[in-house]
Amino acid sequence: MNISIIGTGYVGLVTGTCFSELGHNVICIDNDEKKVETLEKGGIPIYEPGLEEMIRKNREAGRLKFSSSIKDGINSADAVFICVGTPSRPNGEADLSAIEKVAIEIAEALNGYKLIVEKSTVPVQTGIKIKNTIELRKKQDVEYDVASNPEFLREGSAIYDFMHPDRIVIGIETERASKILREIYKGIDAPIVEADIESAEIIKHASNSFLATKISFINAVALLCEKSGANVEKVAEGMGFDKRIGKAFLKAGIGFGGSCFPKDVSAFIKIAERLGYDFALLREAKNINKKMKFHIIDKLKASIWNLKDKRIAVLGLAFKPNTDDMRNAPSIDIINALIKEEAEVVAYDPKAMDKASEVIENIKFATGPYEAIKDADAILILTEWEEFRNLNIQKVKSLLRTPVVIDGRNIFSPDEMKVAGFIYKSIGR
Ligand code: NAD
Repeated sequence: MNISIIGTGYVGLVTGTCFSELGHNVICIDNDEKKVETLEKGGIPIYEPGLEEMIRKNREAGRLKFSSSIKDGINSADAVFICVGTPSRPNGEADLSAIEKVAIEIAEALNGYKLIVEKSTVPVQTGIKIKNTIELRKKQDVEYDVASNPEFLREGSAIYDFMHPDRIVIGIETERASKILREIYKGIDAPIVEADIESAEIIKHASNSFLATKISFINAVALLCEKSGANVEKVAEGMGFDKRIGKAFLKAGIGFGGSCFPKDVSAFIKIAERLGYDFALLREAKNINKKMKFHIIDKLKASIWNLKDKRIAVLGLAFKPNTDDMRNAPSIDIINALIKEEAEVVAYDPKAMDKASEVIENIKFATGPYEAIKDADAILILTEWEEFRNLNIQKVKSLLRTPVVIDGRNIFSPDEMKVAGFIYKSIGR
């Protein structure tokens, strides 16, 4: 099939590359000309394990191309996937202006039947808006279909997730649209959930909101564990064996971040509000999440008293390991709070320091974990990179000014850290 992808970011680039890997002819389009230029020169604008090799292979096979023009890029497409960003507006609702802009450009360029697929995460009833826009703006009297195909990949394991999804959700209105989407995904072994477009749109928001709520739930339990002397990891283990609950997303810590959970929870609350339902459960999930970021700062202060002029080594900046994505990373609010109290922050992250330097001011970056730790009054662990689990603990202790470790991701054993002579605090244990 000939497929055009509009929006070549984390989702669009992975989707386009994986479709080309499945044997389709793909053009990835982006209005960021620098990004397109980088990709055309064989570079890659994001860090995602395995992606660079897969792009190279499919470009060499002639199945994967890049363009900055929607008009040229969708000319011979059978299906056009919209993968542009849907960030939060200040009031929490999804900003759909990029989706509308792309819908207008698609409408004006329509030159024959195409399936227009929303892959970006959007509030329910966006499909209708896309359809209305196409109807209003199309220049030729051609047939088309609109469909919803939400994406569930996770940054850091995006290629694996795309190729081995738990399910493929297709929201369609016609048999023709269903056939095209099934053909595109041929070769991926996963159950296909076929639904109306509105249900498909809600599946994505509901799934992310449910997972975020699960994280906030275990974090609330963690706070209770701290107050009662229980250990949240044991509690999570005991809960997770129950198949109805499951082990995933029961890791207590400083809370969820990233480009999806915070914005999708907020957008789901807002669309519910607009439709006349107060999703109070999700409002509380958000509140708990916010609390966790300040909880770790309280632990730091309880250990080293005032933060003014104290040197704090921050290990981990990305919102999770194996990505360089800094969007809504908890580290941003935590570090800004430290700086406000006039602490000196030296940070290290294996992949996210370039992106962090664009969003966090007044911190120093170290070239490695030991450099960050040297002469620090305390370590704050904010991302559970494997590299940090493998640190030489005795070396860490000898480099620190005072042996204080505040572990926001529970990567060390409290008993071992105590024996090694650290003042060690983690979450919920
Ligand atoms: P991103 O910001 O990395 O990529 C969006 C791309 O769209 C950018 O490269 C941008 O330049 C481009 N773009 C914006 N306006 C454009 C226009 N008018 N024409 C052409 N290109 C345009 O975002 P992302 O993380 O890939 O997310 C995209 C969507 O997928 C969002 O709705 C997000 O919620 C959803 N999603 C993301 C993930 C994830 O893990 N990142 C997972 C599932 C779903």
